[in-house]
Amino acid sequence: MKILVSNDDGIDSPGIYALSKALKEIGDVIVVAPLAEQSAVGHAITMQIPLRVTEYYKNNEFFGYAVDGTPADCIKMGIKNILKYQPDVVVSGINNGSNSAINIIYSGTVSAAREAAIMDVPSIAVSVASHKVDNYAFAGKVARNLTAEVVNKKLRPGTLLNVNIPNLPESEIKGILLTKQGKSKWDDIYEERIDPYGRKYYWLTGKMLPLDNTIEADQYAVMQNYVAVTPIHFDLTDYETFANMKSWNIENLFSLKENMFK
Ligand code: MN
Repeated sequence: MKILVSNDDGIDSPGIYALSKALKEIGDVIVVAPLAEQSAVGHAITMQIPLRVTEYYKNNEFFGYAVDGTPADCIKMGIKNILKYQPDVVVSGINNGSNSAINIIYSGTVSAAREAAIMDVPSIAVSVASHKVDNYAFAGKVARNLTAEVVNKKLRPGTLLNVNIPNLPESEIKGILLTKQGKSKWDDIYEERIDPYGRKYYWLTGKMLPLDNTIEADQYAVMQNYVAVTPIHFDLTDYETFANMKSWNIENLFSLKENMFK
């Protein structure tokens, strides 16, 4: 089994090292990851400047390929230029920090997996819900077992699994739940500071406010010490509105033909 591994915390982060170690137990791992941290870059791709790829060594051993771009760049280049074939699965992580609820939109970790889904490769994004992860061993085990399951069971084209894991020892984890993307909002705070030249600058921080406290919501499940597994898709169509808007008869709303050539 060929497994392409990436992340958004950068190729030197402990999470990607733990992930690749866990996945080597079930397949051949190829790491293509950002040279520098790319957290919260979303699904950005690099088009205005060139990309460079360097071989990255860890403990004097070849670890993988570092791309000086975004997580989505890593997956595109990884498949097109480095592997030159479709891997069986792409796994992104292990991210420091939760990627549940609205964070899915901003997450580089999820975007790497989503890019794989766009390229018809089944994929998984794995995050631990803390910026100070105590131990990656359990998250690595979850990632390994789910990867084997995804390759075995297959996913619908375009679908990826978004996995969030509490920052707890295995003995304190209550179980694993199938979840939905929870509802949440960020209470953004742009902290105002002064630079050495006396000018103001702003640094984004804030607090995520969960808006649904049901066990089916990913962020709530994680708060209740469960591993949350949410299937997501890149198709952003709102099918409910699509059905409801049929009654608008939008094709008759404006007489485009009359005005088109004026
Ligand atoms: Mn990150």
